[in-house]
Amino acid sequence: MKRILVTKTSMPDFEEYIEEIKDLWDSHHLTNMGVKHEKLTFMLREFLSTPYVSLFTNGHLALESILSAFDLSGEVITTPYTFASTTHAIVRNGLVPVFCDIDPGTYTMDASKIEELITENTSAIVPVHVYGTVCDVEGIQRIADKYNLKVIYDAAHAFGVTVNGRGIGSFGDASMFSFHATKVFHTIEGGCITFRDYSLLDKLNSLKNFGIKGPDCVDAIGSNAKMNEFQAAMGIVNLSYIDENRKKREKIVSDYKNGLSSIPGLKLLSSQQDVLSNYAYFPVVFEGEKWDRDNVADKLAQNNVFVRKYFYPLVNDFDCYRHDYDSSKTPVARHIASKVLTLPLYAEMTDEEVDHVCYLIEEMSPYKNDMLYVPLNNEPTIHIKERGTRA
Ligand SMILES: *Cc1c(COP(=O)(O)O)cnc(C)c1O
Repeated sequence: MKRILVTKTSMPDFEEYIEEIKDLWDSHHLTNMGVKHEKLTFMLREFLSTPYVSLFTNGHLALESILSAFDLSGEVITTPYTFASTTHAIVRNGLVPVFCDIDPGTYTMDASKIEELITENTSAIVPVHVYGTVCDVEGIQRIADKYNLKVIYDAAHAFGVTVNGRGIGSFGDASMFSFHATKVFHTIEGGCITFRDYSLLDKLNSLKNFGIKGPDCVDAIGSNAKMNEFQAAMGIVNLSYIDENRKKREKIVSDYKNGLSSIPGLKLLSSQQDVLSNYAYFPVVFEGEKWDRDNVADKLAQNNVFVRKYFYPLVNDFDCYRHDYDSSKTPVARHIASKVLTLPLYAEMTDEEVDHVCYLIEEMSPYKNDMLYVPLNNEPTIHIKERGTRA
């Protein structure tokens, strides 16, 4: 068996990409909001079904910029169960992250634990649709409305996810998507902000271009975070493969579930009702006491299967944060982080590769010789609460 990596970037048809970038040799217009940039913006507004889209050179600077655009101050409630970017974007805006624990079923921010963290200094909530799993969007919005807080979603994992047909990027005040090469949709590097408030459009355009408002006016301390034409062209071409890739990923996830559900002590992510998933990641929590997550990762690597401890360590345990935080205050997140692995998953993954990963895990199961066990994967489907109704 060849090496099986945790992810493999989807490449569009080569000729198609070349065709898309050809006219750049005529225009000599390679960046600063050119025709490809405008075309992709338009396509994404349609695809993500959101009124406004602002493109960025990467997801991280998009998040930094939207936090800056809202002129926040003081504390921001967020999740420690995420990629470094979410917290760094908050801190680099001079804001103080306050970590809220996660829900043991979805691994997203536990909305029932937000209120106890709110102080007079709280200005926003930054939840993460981690692995593409939809947060308790209604619960979070209720709290935000009650305390007049902004809600900015890190939707880096959630491209193409919908709830009852509604684009995930239309919840809260704004959402950030990442188009990094490892994400389900990519522009090599890239990202965007989706939002409804028209007045943010000028602000974001200025913030991603040094705060330049016009020829004679610089009115904000902006950054340089513009998406260039080659990135945008990659996005234009890749967008046409999204539905096909989603179907391929769905099949892989379904095969994984079939292959792993009878192995004792594993906890798999439940599917969410009324949610169209993008099947971005396949996290497995090695919950059973006899499992040793690190040992599984090592053994898989010895067999040429490369998984990731995604997300470990927890952000509040990072060397740069642990002096100011105590991860025992987010025990659910700490527990999951200590037991999780994300398995290889990419559109081009073959049936044999999926079978092989499942086989290896089954072979190394410490429960292999046990006669009797109760599978952990019989949890109910998680229901997204509708506005005005009670689950
Ligand atoms: C990828 C990612 C980001 C950052 O996006 P980039 O495009 O790589 O800058 C932010 N948050 C999460 C959860 C991510 O996975």
